[in-house]
Amino acid sequence: MTNTARVAAISAIADLPYPDCTVDTTLVTTELFGCNVFGPSEMQARLPKAIFKSLSKTISTGAKLDPSAADVVAEAMKSWAIERGATHYAHVFYPLTGSTAEKHDSFMDPDGKGGLVAEFAGKTLIQGEPDASSFPNGGIRATFEARGYTAWDVTSPAYLLENANGVTLCIPTAFVSWTGEALDKKTPVLRSMQALNKQAQRLLALFGNETSDFIAANAGPEQEYFLIDSNFYYARQDLMGCGRTLFGAASPKGQQFDDHYFGAIPARVLAYMHEIDHQLFKLGVPVKTRHNEVAPGQFEIAPMFESANVGTDHQQLLMYVLKSVAKKHGFECLMHEKPFAGINGSGKHVNWSMGSAQAGNLMDPGETPHDNAQFLVACAAVVRAVHVHGGLLRAVVASASNDHRLGANEAPPAILSVYLGDQLGDVFDQLKGSGAKTSKKRGTLKIGADVLPELPKDAGDRNRTSPFAFVGNRFEFRAVGSSQSIAGPLVALNTVVADSLDVLVTEIEDLIAKKKTLIQAVQIVLKRVATEHADVIFNGDGYSQAWHDEAAKRGLKNLRSTPDCLGELIEKPVVDVFKKHKVLSKRELESRYEVYVEQYNNTVLVEAKTVVEMAKTQIYPAAMRYAGELVATVTGLELLGVARATDTVTTVGDLAVGLMREIAALEKLLDTHHAKPITEAKHLQAKVLPKMLEIRAIADELEGLVADDLWPLPTYQEMLFIK
Ligand code: ADP
Ligand code: MG
Repeated sequence: MTNTARVAAISAIADLPYPDCTVDTTLVTTELFGCNVFGPSEMQARLPKAIFKSLSKTISTGAKLDPSAADVVAEAMKSWAIERGATHYAHVFYPLTGSTAEKHDSFMDPDGKGGLVAEFAGKTLIQGEPDASSFPNGGIRATFEARGYTAWDVTSPAYLLENANGVTLCIPTAFVSWTGEALDKKTPVLRSMQALNKQAQRLLALFGNETSDFIAANAGPEQEYFLIDSNFYYARQDLMGCGRTLFGAASPKGQQFDDHYFGAIPARVLAYMHEIDHQLFKLGVPVKTRHNEVAPGQFEIAPMFESANVGTDHQQLLMYVLKSVAKKHGFECLMHEKPFAGINGSGKHVNWSMGSAQAGNLMDPGETPHDNAQFLVACAAVVRAVHVHGGLLRAVVASASNDHRLGANEAPPAILSVYLGDQLGDVFDQLKGSGAKTSKKRGTLKIGADVLPELPKDAGDRNRTSPFAFVGNRFEFRAVGSSQSIAGPLVALNTVVADSLDVLVTEIEDLIAKKKTLIQAVQIVLKRVATEHADVIFNGDGYSQAWHDEAAKRGLKNLRSTPDCLGELIEKPVVDVFKKHKVLSKRELESRYEVYVEQYNNTVLVEAKTVVEMAKTQIYPAAMRYAGELVATVTGLELLGVARATDTVTTVGDLAVGLMREIAALEKLLDTHHAKPITEAKHLQAKVLPKMLEIRAIADELEGLVADDLWPLPTYQEMLFIK
């Protein structure tokens, strides 16, 4: 038998006991929430008043950090952490790989008398120097300037990461080079938030709504993921090495009944989710919703929105917790955008808005958006930003894995457009004329059964096909991939919206200087935006061919693959806008471009090599063994005069030979190398990926023919339905 791994996997799962709850349920959520976070209440309790005030000011207004506070904070943080069992501390940083990196140091130092003393000075809190020179940096860290520093980000709270082998104090940091250039994903998030705050303050001032609060970009990311039993995972080289199945015939039952979507959560998964919520609550991540998603084996978790910076760090933490707790429950959490062909992939909808406690949510239209001028200018700025910088917004969600999702009829298309919905769409139409005079009413929803309540109706419906949709009081950037850091998309959004606000507010100020009233000036500017940028607004079906044709007529970019769009990162308008708002320099952008092209190439190359290896060492042998069995049996039967060679023998034989022929062709393609990374990327995209698909088609056909007891790879049916 060659399906031993599969059989063993299935019986291991069948033998699992009914899942026990793995967390302490006596703890109430309010006590649990943030108990492992060095947050405001812990700081207030442990820090001198003046220092607490100065830190709080930095956090809430974006004011400069008072360096003299560091020693005191470090001491308080250390004693808090040690009281809770911490032995080590780590500066956590976010390299361009999209992962989370940490370097652990012990609190203990020799005391000079043969013993140890717990040390953690202010300067250790503020600054670290992990070597970390192996992270991709796109040329920013040449050998003569190879130093990299981590710098404490006081706006993102430190926390304790507990695991079976100890407790570590984790301090979120920015990671920069000796020249001060950003080597990471956090630094630009902070810079872009600063840029957005500056322009948002100008907008508020225009309408007499000055505030001392920092106007923060807010992010609420919805994370989709798959869970499969780890026994299946370890039996598949493609899942282990690439995070997705490179082979696998569709199972007869897929998602056609939609019976998984929002269905009752299986007991084993619920035990997992319960622990996830528990762990994340302790870490102060405000997770709110959890449910089954469309595909079998697919789930979603969404925290409540937070400031873009904290939300991004929490998102990284959430992905880490999802993956590590899965292992404890015998699952593997697949974050890949398309782990299985033929069923839905996973995305990460990033809900975005801007605001503060004092100023409220600047993206909230109120009941009558047509006469909410401040909202309309803010909204117009977003519309303009997406229109002017659609290419950039496409590039920041690009990856080899997200390519399998964008553009397929399940996820938003690669064309960046804005969905405004009924009410706001109508207001924007009116703005093109002599100004907006009315807003469509919400109304109530009558259900037709007297016992049911009348429901207040939302002002606009939803559009699941739009990559960028207005959803009541925020925009939802739906093209982001499930495995991605949300930092890149947020940096781009914050920066281009800051720029649009800058342009629109300046225009309004200039008109006022020329003796227009505020309202006249606003009307002129809104009319211009509604007219000039109408082409980016699209409320219809984003999946349809008609939209692809129409978008081309409107001049909207349709950048289908990663190699098609990464170049956008270094186009002049992008370089200019990032420079103007001091978010990323040209060199920093170029470094990102280089790193992401390299990442694309590495990803596809590893996949292609995995295809070759699996086909040669698993699929071809299975096919040939089966062919051999058939030949032997049929020959015997022929001898007895019972039967003649059947179609199956020849089909299997032909397919196996075809498989090896295409593998040879793929190997030849892999031998072709291009010196320029982007040329290599285009080669991989245009030649190698299609060849991998051809090979897959043959292998998947074989899967439907070869005797099940000879098939080595866990099937779709098994992976998706056995839990
Ligand atoms: P749905 O699946 O209906 O889109 P969810 O409840 O799953 O909605 O997720 C919505 C996300 O949007 C949550 O993270 C929520 O906190 C976030 N959100 C709500 N209001 C805002 C806002 N003003 N700004 C940013 N995000 C928001
Ligand atoms: Mg959603």
